[in-house]
Amino acid sequence: MRKCEYCGSLVPDDKNKCDACGAWCAREVEKTAPIPSSAPIVPQPPVDNAKNNIGTASDGKFISNKGVLNSLVIFLVCVFFGMLGLHRFIQGKIFTGILWLITLGLLGIGYFADIVITGVRFLKSLVKN
Ligand SMILES: [Zn+2]
Repeated sequence: MRKCEYCGSLVPDDKNKCDACGAWCAREVEKTAPIPSSAPIVPQPPVDNAKNNIGTASDGKFISNKGVLNSLVIFLVCVFFGMLGLHRFIQGKIFTGILWLITLGLLGIGYFADIVITGVRFLKSLVKN
């Protein structure tokens, strides 16, 4: 129950009209309703979205792709420090890393094999993206 704004008599919650004076008494729910609807809905500019999808987004995706970058870094480390097994330490292969370090990349055989493997892995990551 609530009070009529005009005559002060009680108005049932399920009625919008005062029985005593006949005035229309807006419900409290209806009074508060305009507040959420008046909340600003920022329209998204469609031009910018289309631009991002076609142009910069794809370029950014390539640059920020960790798979491509990681495999490139591992490949380059393998080329320059492969004899010391540094690329294997980076990949968390500690045991073979130590083996590479002691034997200088399995006397060069493992070194060259890893250059091919990491090189192919890098090219594959490029193709995927
Ligand atoms: Zn009234």
